[in-house]
Amino acid sequence: MSPTPDRDALRERYRAERDKRLRPDGNDQYLEPKGRFDHLLDDPYTPRVERAPLHEEVTVALIGSGFSGLCVGARLVQRGIDDLRLVEGGGDVGGAWYWNRYPGSMCDTAAMVYLPLLEETGHRPSKKYTFATEIFEHAQRIARQFGLYEKTLFSTAVTSLVWDDAAARWILRTDRGDEIRARFVCTGTGPLHRPKLPGIPGIESFAGHAFHTSRWDWAYTGGDSAGAPMTKLADKRVGIIGTGATAVQCIPPLGRDARELFVFQRTPSSIDVRNNHEIDSDWFATLAPGWQKRWLLNFATLQTGGFADEDLVKDGWTDIAQRIRDRVVKAMQEPGARFGMELVQRAYEDSDDEKMDEIRARVDTIVEDRATAEALKPWYRQLCKRPCFHDEYLQTYNRTSVHLVDTDGKGVERIDATGVWVGGKHHAVDCLVFASGFEVGTDTARRSGFQTIGRGGETLSQHWAEGMRTLHGIHAHGFPNLFIVSLAQGANLISNITHNLTEAGSTIAAVIGHALATGADEVEATRVAEEEWVKLLESSPTAFLGNPDCTPGYYNNEGRPIGRRERLNASGYPAGPVAYFSYIEGWRDCGRFEGLAFRKRG
Ligand code: NDP
Repeated sequence: MSPTPDRDALRERYRAERDKRLRPDGNDQYLEPKGRFDHLLDDPYTPRVERAPLHEEVTVALIGSGFSGLCVGARLVQRGIDDLRLVEGGGDVGGAWYWNRYPGSMCDTAAMVYLPLLEETGHRPSKKYTFATEIFEHAQRIARQFGLYEKTLFSTAVTSLVWDDAAARWILRTDRGDEIRARFVCTGTGPLHRPKLPGIPGIESFAGHAFHTSRWDWAYTGGDSAGAPMTKLADKRVGIIGTGATAVQCIPPLGRDARELFVFQRTPSSIDVRNNHEIDSDWFATLAPGWQKRWLLNFATLQTGGFADEDLVKDGWTDIAQRIRDRVVKAMQEPGARFGMELVQRAYEDSDDEKMDEIRARVDTIVEDRATAEALKPWYRQLCKRPCFHDEYLQTYNRTSVHLVDTDGKGVERIDATGVWVGGKHHAVDCLVFASGFEVGTDTARRSGFQTIGRGGETLSQHWAEGMRTLHGIHAHGFPNLFIVSLAQGANLISNITHNLTEAGSTIAAVIGHALATGADEVEATRVAEEEWVKLLESSPTAFLGNPDCTPGYYNNEGRPIGRRERLNASGYPAGPVAYFSYIEGWRDCGRFEGLAFRKRG
């Protein structure tokens, strides 16, 4: 293990590592898959079947059938609102879990809390952390159970969404020529949806095979997402660009199956232990009704620094919070101790330094080659980047066929027809896998692929030009009967995305249920309510995107200045996710729906 530097030296190292990576082009360094790469957006899993355009009117149209659309759809059906139409770009439900079928794909959040509607469906997760195939199957299970399959138009992309004020209807058009008139519309288009490519000079000149991790080319690699070996790679030199959460999961199977694997690394991820295990069926059967809500709140509480008698999930997400709590409790026992922000910050920094020391030490215990081990050590605070948990990733670098090509924070130099250049050295590859992530900070219309045009012709992009503006992260003034499913401006619980979605489902179903029961033609956030909500969000000293000291990435606007727009787009309820969940449950249950105007047309 490397000697632990003192705090100042550690901060200096963190700063130096960040500075190495700062670039003036920030988010603009990335490319949209166009030209040579436009096929990377195609659906490789389901052939497109021609069909006649549909013209219809429905009560609720849902855009997207990932867990957002499924959770809202399920909650609506539970309330007896089943005149629904889902429109989905992919060939099946599942959203991120439909697209991300790369080898080794799984979820880093424990299945007991990540998989939505477990009690409603009766499904027992097979393991503490489940693979993508099981998660995809669970999405299908929800769609089947709530009758959502027959209500979904698959392989259909929405091209525009326009509010018809005279008729008080949304008009949704698609790339199939459909025109769907809907009284209410819900958009669940996901935060990590649109693949991006690294803007590496010469990338379009690569003459070998190339694909993005969210469109895995099983025909080329052989094998399947259930874990069958990728036998067609046995004679291939494969390069992978990126070492984020996705790459960490697909590098072990690629390292196992490729003749040679070159991993091009700009910033190493932090890799903590995973300790996966089976979920015992006898134990699962003992869980009392209401267990999943208890688990969800327990996880959210502990992961966000709150106190609870026991840690039900007990994993890497709750571990750091446990350390902070223990330090605060201990410090408070000192004579004259005073509880406050300073004490908590100190406990957080100490816990973070300790955790990151352990993570760096773990690399040394696993990776045999010293230079490779050094290059795999992350030098930043744990939440600067998505923390990763894996028990085979670091081990993969002990294979003689696997080569870590570290770029010392600079990124790949250039690509040519036959391979990849780093530090003046050429690495010939037959195939390039882009594990380069998804667009996060770009305009909402660009990411979803359609414009939303509200009252008076205002687009949602215009409404949000200076940053997102909503009530509760769901309603936007000027966009009646529109419901946005998003983490931002709500709980913003990033460690367990689906918790945000099931809550949004309950809230949206309650509002639509009320509008239908009272005969309201329109429901809309008032201007004042939206302004007040935004003011509340801005009163928070902390925002998720708020750490410019971090090494660059999509968590901090790629290290570029973080202005009001970026802060608003990534803001959450100031008192934290648990407080938001409690607030919104009270808000929807009391039935007054403060901040919303329900209107009847004459
Ligand atoms: P990321 O955006 O996290 O990672 C992109 C990777 O590409 C980074 O390692 C980045 O380096 C690298 N990169 C970009 N440009 C270059 C370049 N020019 N040269 C070399 N490397 C480059 O995308 P992911 O798909 O890994 O993850 C996206 C998100 O998806 C995660 O943050 C997580 O939220 C989610 N996810 C969740 C999982 C789960 O278990 N629940 C599993 C997988 C993904 P750098 O870091 O230096 O920018």
